[in-house]
Amino acid sequence: MGQTFSIIFYSVLAGLATISGMIMVILKEEWVLRNSRHVHSFAAGLILGIAFFHLFPESLTLTGNPMTFIFTGFLIFYLLEHMMVLHSGSEIHYKEKHNPQHTKAMVMFSGLFFHSILDGLIIGVGFEIDSTIGILTSLGVIMHEFPEGVTTYSLLVNKIKRKLAFNLSIAVALATPIGALISLTFLGGLSETTIGVLLAMAGGSFLYIAATDLIPETHEEGLTSVIALFSGVLFLYILSQFVSK
Ligand SMILES: [Zn+2]
Repeated sequence: MGQTFSIIFYSVLAGLATISGMIMVILKEEWVLRNSRHVHSFAAGLILGIAFFHLFPESLTLTGNPMTFIFTGFLIFYLLEHMMVLHSGSEIHYKEKHNPQHTKAMVMFSGLFFHSILDGLIIGVGFEIDSTIGILTSLGVIMHEFPEGVTTYSLLVNKIKRKLAFNLSIAVALATPIGALISLTFLGGLSETTIGVLLAMAGGSFLYIAATDLIPETHEEGLTSVIALFSGVLFLYILSQFVSK
């Protein structure tokens, strides 16, 4: 597959993963809420494996010292989520005159939309290095997009009308391919070091997503979620043996 085609292909897959998450909530809400924690655990293990086995070492090769940028990626995603929860959470801070739920939903939507744009950029950055890193970053994005679709739709549908929640969730799903298209317009001209910096930031964002979005959801599940998380790590480790150069 050509690089451009791969970037579009995998980002569309990621968008479809978000959509399947929302459809699962619509069709089988209880089942999803009961079983999605195993998916969360497995995805967390896999995403951490991608960051630690591939993205961090690769960015080390490209930049020499990726630590600051890994940390920056982590902090950007922290800030993004913090703003989203803060502005959509407490009514003490914000007293809207009309329909506060609607405003909250729109803030949430903006945060999720921007996050998904970054997911698309991350796929582009991966393929800018080579197809192995590209496929692995795509896998990391795709794996957390399903839980993200579940979260996005569940959060929105509690605040606004079903139809609008549905349309906004579709927009969040589309943001990943849009981000990937944006990456196509400027990544080609960047130096190897800059790509390494972006990859380190992508790794930092994976660390954030796994450690704060996915793992905390799974603690109540006991041993099964521990097994699921380690299976994710092991699966990625075995996969790495086949795909490494
Ligand atoms: Zn995401």
